[in-house]
Amino acid sequence: MTSLPTSRLRDLPSVDRVLRTPLAAAAVERFGQQSTTRAIRDALEEVRAACRTGAAVPEPSDLAADALLRLKAAERPSLRPVFNLTGTVLHTNLGRALIADEALEAMRAAMSEAVALEFDIGTGRRGERDDHLRALICEFTGAEDATVVNNNAAAVLLVLNTLSLGREAVVSRGELIEIGGSFRMPDIMTRSGAKLVEVGTTNRTHPKDYLSAVGPATGVVFKVHTSNYRIDGFTAEVPARELSAIAKERGVPLVHDLGSGTLIDLAQYGLKHEPTVREAIADGADLVTFSGDKLLGGPQAGLIVGRKDLLAEVNRNPMKRALRLDKLRLAALEATLKLYRNPDRLVERLPTLRLLARPAADIAAQARRLAPVLSNILGDEFAVDVAECRSQVGSGALPLDTLPSAGLAVSHQSGSGQVLEALAAALRALPVPVIGRIERQALMLDLRCLEDEAGLAANLASFSPGGGGAVA
Ligand SMILES: *Cc1c(COP(=O)(O)O)cnc(C)c1O
Repeated sequence: MTSLPTSRLRDLPSVDRVLRTPLAAAAVERFGQQSTTRAIRDALEEVRAACRTGAAVPEPSDLAADALLRLKAAERPSLRPVFNLTGTVLHTNLGRALIADEALEAMRAAMSEAVALEFDIGTGRRGERDDHLRALICEFTGAEDATVVNNNAAAVLLVLNTLSLGREAVVSRGELIEIGGSFRMPDIMTRSGAKLVEVGTTNRTHPKDYLSAVGPATGVVFKVHTSNYRIDGFTAEVPARELSAIAKERGVPLVHDLGSGTLIDLAQYGLKHEPTVREAIADGADLVTFSGDKLLGGPQAGLIVGRKDLLAEVNRNPMKRALRLDKLRLAALEATLKLYRNPDRLVERLPTLRLLARPAADIAAQARRLAPVLSNILGDEFAVDVAECRSQVGSGALPLDTLPSAGLAVSHQSGSGQVLEALAAALRALPVPVIGRIERQALMLDLRCLEDEAGLAANLASFSPGGGGAVA
């Protein structure tokens, strides 16, 4: 009746036999002989183990299908698109700002054609990379000069290394923040070669603290916009304008790390006012650093703006070469900045701003459309409710000023946290992973960042409770 395991193994088709199936031939056509053979071997290996514990011997075509699935899975990019339903618009772990179409097109051109990256078309001589962006950045910030590097962490590192290598960098204890991902201000300051001089206390720093610390050994007075936390209560900080007067009087440059560094007043879009780069320059900072892929809505980049003489020093620093921006992001940044020239259409063209400015009523209407779709897919055990929630800007910007939003709150009749974890895992296993957050006994899918509603619905159709979504 039942054959012995050894005889089952003998019945397993050979690699060659599987290779002769039409499905395997198609796999060879698409993925090549070598990869297909390896995938068939892997499939056979797994089946051999299963047969030892009593599983049936598969047909050659089943093995070929298994191999094809493996090949397709291996071909899928590791850096995959996901649906960001976390409610955090600038989610550092999900890639921060989404690029505008105009920036995407500029990147495509810069990638596929030769470009005048460091070439002056007028004279036919060598040009400068920064020439493409300098005037634009100055236009929107009121600064004298500008340059761009890999990210804002690099901007801080480069500026401090240029101005305070072997000298003192004076900073308030209340501003020695950790940004996340092991990026800590005191560490990067020390690594820049500056001697860190902390002044004041965690909650209060006064002008006299700076006045007693800034002297002949000081290379730079450093101010950090503590965008990612706020101290309430008995607090005091020296405003940039006042600190700038102190620095000027002592003949030391003031560097202001703005972090998010928006170019426009966000209050007009219903967000809280975040200091703009123009304001930081007007308040007397000699150099200002900020990110390209936070509120600016562009590619990853670090912008350094301010005094011409100081930027000349920054540009002479050999580290600049190691930290400079590549042509793709330069192209994207130029196109992104140009969108700011037409403020009337900015909210529609710049995805970051578009998502941040989305009215809660729109999001709620979308949630009402999607609730029955998701409910249908998940079945009776789960309740899918349209719920109000709060979105976050993210990337350390305005952490306490959440935005009214809406989404789908999925709960299970058992109230079990484990079931919700399993549901979250199954949603992440979809062809396009869906990322939500679990809070208050529900899996919350904040729809603020959902623009492709039909895409999400189609994606959800592949849902299977055990996860392991289908591979396209
Ligand atoms: C985010 C941030 C940084 C780091 O910027 P990246 O672009 O992520 O390198 C530095 N300083 C402040 C205040 C920030 O908020």
